[in-house]
Amino acid sequence: MGSERNEKLSIRLNGTAASPGISIGPVFLLNVEEIRVKKHVLKDKTEAECEVKRFRNALLRSREELEEISGKVSDIIEGKQLMEVHILLLDDPAIHKEVENRIREELVSAEYAVSRVLYDILERFNSIEDPLLRSRSVDVRDVGRRLIANLLGTEKEVLANLNHPVVLVSSDLDPSHTAGLTRKQLLGIVTDLGGSTSHTAILARSMGIPSVVALKDVAEYAHPGQTVIVDGVHGVVILDPDEDELEYYTELKNRYNLAEAEIALNAENKTVTEDGVGIELSANIEFSQEADQVKRFGGKGIGLFRTEFIRLLSPEIEDNEEIHYRAYKHVLEAVHPEPVIIRTFDLGGDKFLESIPTKERNPFLGWRGIRICLDRPLKFRSQLRAVLRAAKYGNAWLMLPMITSQDQVLQVKDMLFDIEAELDTSGTPHGSIPTLGIMVETPAAALAIDFLIPHIDFVSIGSNDLTQYTLAVDRGSPYVSNLFDSLHPSVLRQIEHVARKCREAEIWVGICGQMASNPLSIPLLLGFGLNELSVSLTLIPDVKKMISVINMKEAETLAKESLMMESGNEIRKHVLDYVKSRYPAIILDEIHRDNNDRGN
Ligand code: PEP
Ligand code: MG
Repeated sequence: MGSERNEKLSIRLNGTAASPGISIGPVFLLNVEEIRVKKHVLKDKTEAECEVKRFRNALLRSREELEEISGKVSDIIEGKQLMEVHILLLDDPAIHKEVENRIREELVSAEYAVSRVLYDILERFNSIEDPLLRSRSVDVRDVGRRLIANLLGTEKEVLANLNHPVVLVSSDLDPSHTAGLTRKQLLGIVTDLGGSTSHTAILARSMGIPSVVALKDVAEYAHPGQTVIVDGVHGVVILDPDEDELEYYTELKNRYNLAEAEIALNAENKTVTEDGVGIELSANIEFSQEADQVKRFGGKGIGLFRTEFIRLLSPEIEDNEEIHYRAYKHVLEAVHPEPVIIRTFDLGGDKFLESIPTKERNPFLGWRGIRICLDRPLKFRSQLRAVLRAAKYGNAWLMLPMITSQDQVLQVKDMLFDIEAELDTSGTPHGSIPTLGIMVETPAAALAIDFLIPHIDFVSIGSNDLTQYTLAVDRGSPYVSNLFDSLHPSVLRQIEHVARKCREAEIWVGICGQMASNPLSIPLLLGFGLNELSVSLTLIPDVKKMISVINMKEAETLAKESLMMESGNEIRKHVLDYVKSRYPAIILDEIHRDNNDRGN
């Protein structure tokens, strides 16, 4: 990440691509004002009581505003949740008491008392070690600003009254700023802070607005009305673009729009190889609203729903079971009757919660995935309850991550029966126990797959972790990313072994790691006989195209030959020659993606 100024003084900044698409438009600079306000001392207790009244009125007004926004985003589950969190914070009696005490005891204005109380809360947030929990301070700040704006009577709905579309530029963005807006008003969203799973990113994706975040200093360089290009595909933002850049990105934008139109046309087509063998092509999703796009991109069902993101984003103060139940129900209904593979929480590794210690020396080898779930059954049981309740609304499959032994599967099975009985006793409506499967992500599961198969209904290969654990290469470490290679013979041999054992036992086997969308792996995966490939939503059209040029007989031969080769590079070259002969146009893109894949 960084910035560079070319000779024509355009400024190019690199950040994190948060929502795909290209847009070009004028900057709307949103200065998110500081919470602290000037101290104003009151005359006496009577004035203090007036201030308390003013504070209570501001609370009511803020609540009404949040409810209105919540109504507007009611079709976006996570967006609605965010607004609900804000309402909960606003309703917190402890905060009310603290503010009113300060007004009465220190004889200060309501806005000053609110600003001090919020400042204290934010200080406490800043000292929290867990980065995810710490990031929740954005909600506190947002609620605080709203309250103060209502007390000061400042005009904060400027954005809502825009009469022309803009690109919103801000150092940081509060969810409620974006939640009330529409695609018509916003061409793009760019921010200094945030990550691809930040609130802004989630909402931008759900609204289909191109977005780049984590730009560090875009708000400093930008000024109102200036032209800006937002490339939400590659994570690039250009301020004051020169003519060449404008021409290039206008062309790219048109191509992107055309590609979107083509996607819509091909979405109905089945995924088949050149010689007519049908392959299931599904989507990996992190957020429930992504399920609404699966059909549009031409996917079948959901091959991996990474449910831990809902938990990472949903506050502990809310009832987690309910949040999960609503999310699963939404996804199941969206792709009905196709299957939704709901993966149970895969926390730990690089995905932390405040309740999980982050001080392990080797978090990827530590308390992660199914291990945490079985050790902390309370939260896990509430997830399973949510799945069983939602299963009534569609074709739910349940998948367990990080499995290394039979015993883990058997424990979950027992829990499922127990929860089913519990739901029956309480008369809670639910579906039947879902089709149960495991992720093969560890050599332990891959090499002993025949001992696991009798206890499960399906397998999905998590090649990201399988590669990491097989090659002893931390998938997130830049120091060893050159060693991360999913085409390494040791990884391919395990995939072939698992696929063969599953076929022999007649159980369904798919793959949901990054490999499934790498054009150099696809012919091999088909050749090994996998039933399904599950890839990121936006990659479905490319993968479908790729599959359509592959001949299954040739893929089988290629896969067999690759098993005899001695290195990832030898295999890579062999497959590349084949791919080139089938589909020359794919090459450039594919090399780019293979590089990314290896660094992941
Ligand atoms: C994998 O490990 O390949 C996988 C799909 O799971 P995740 O990337 O969520 O660890
Ligand atoms: Mg994994």
